[in-house]
Amino acid sequence: YSSNIPQLPPDPLFGIKARFALDTHPNKVDLGVGAYRDENGKPWILPSVRLAENLLQHSADFNHEYLPITGLKSLTEEAAKVILGDESRAIKEKRVVSIQSLSGTGSLHLAAKLIALFFKPADGTTESPVIYISDPSWANHIQVFETCGLKTARYPYLDAEKKVIRINEYVKTIEEAPRGSVFLLHATAHNPTGIDPTPEQWKIVLKAISDNGHLPLFDCAYQGFTTGSLSEDAWALRHAIDTEGYKFPGVLVCQSFAKNCGMYGERVGAFHVILPVHDEALNSAVLSQLSKVIRSEISNPPGYGAKIVSLILTTPELKKQWEQDLITMSSRIFGMRKALVAELERLGTPGSWKHIVEQKGMFSFTGLTPEQTDKLAEDYGIYMTRNGRASIAGLNGGNVKYVAKGIDGVVRK
Ligand code: PMP
Repeated sequence: YSSNIPQLPPDPLFGIKARFALDTHPNKVDLGVGAYRDENGKPWILPSVRLAENLLQHSADFNHEYLPITGLKSLTEEAAKVILGDESRAIKEKRVVSIQSLSGTGSLHLAAKLIALFFKPADGTTESPVIYISDPSWANHIQVFETCGLKTARYPYLDAEKKVIRINEYVKTIEEAPRGSVFLLHATAHNPTGIDPTPEQWKIVLKAISDNGHLPLFDCAYQGFTTGSLSEDAWALRHAIDTEGYKFPGVLVCQSFAKNCGMYGERVGAFHVILPVHDEALNSAVLSQLSKVIRSEISNPPGYGAKIVSLILTTPELKKQWEQDLITMSSRIFGMRKALVAELERLGTPGSWKHIVEQKGMFSFTGLTPEQTDKLAEDYGIYMTRNGRASIAGLNGGNVKYVAKGIDGVVRK
């Protein structure tokens, strides 16, 4: 059989990580993977996570038993409140079905499974809806949906030249998509561009999605990274779910705690299905179907990280500390954006770099070409994805000048 199995290229992002590890350059810098680093360039265990871990390990009923198939209830319930808001109408009206997932990717996978199994754009059709993904987007989005047999299409998003959202073409694509399509929306801190719609643009986009009978799917992997505030970063999603004027057939929400709790490898996340009206039977049916997917694929979700995040969300002092940790991370990243631009301007690097300060979240879409990023890796040992996306979290006081020097060097070549 082996002759039928074609070799695939390595994953671009994890490929960068591997090349970075092998690079012997003394000043090498990893701006590839979207993981927060502290001022010393080291992974950071959030103080709130440390406190929760300590509490957990010293609690009398701590063990490593299996979680239920649907996950840790205290996590999924609190996770829904974190993302939808304590005052969420949808929660009060019991329109939310929540289940624990393998971080954000696992949550997207559950969305894909549910769509592939049950969502049909119109009565009588057997075709699944097309999933519309921003151009550009997180590289994994397409394959998460296509490996579940779904078709994907792109909606125009970034005007790379002007570094603004191509709002007219975006809305035109929504209007022209077959009724009942799925629109995957980055809830906050768009990856890779760092450019989110303004509230006015969100309203235009959401109205077009609603008017054309499409289903919004919010991917929320960076809540807290845009403004440092959990509620501000959930504004678009809460506006979509809580505004009566929109008539969505439902809303899907994929939530990751990888970045905002720094729990990357522990795979903590949740998937929420928001039903348009309260329907106890449908609620239960959806949960049963998602449970079957979980049971057949992973049997039950991982417990350790779920217990830690749940403790943070249910213990007021820990929640307060977490909110402080989010400010620590988002403000350090913002400081690094400013430092990088200041240094590029000091060097007189050709071009305009202001967009780096204006972009939100963990990344900057620098505008460097694939060839320039190759050169940056070769000549300076500075790694970012070939589309010019740099993880600003990888910058610190010790390397920001060097990175600016590298960018300056490859831009002038
Ligand atoms: N969505 C987006 C836009 C992302 O950038 C990421 C992580 N890079 C994810 C989802 C999923 O991440 P994880 O599975 O680690 O939670």
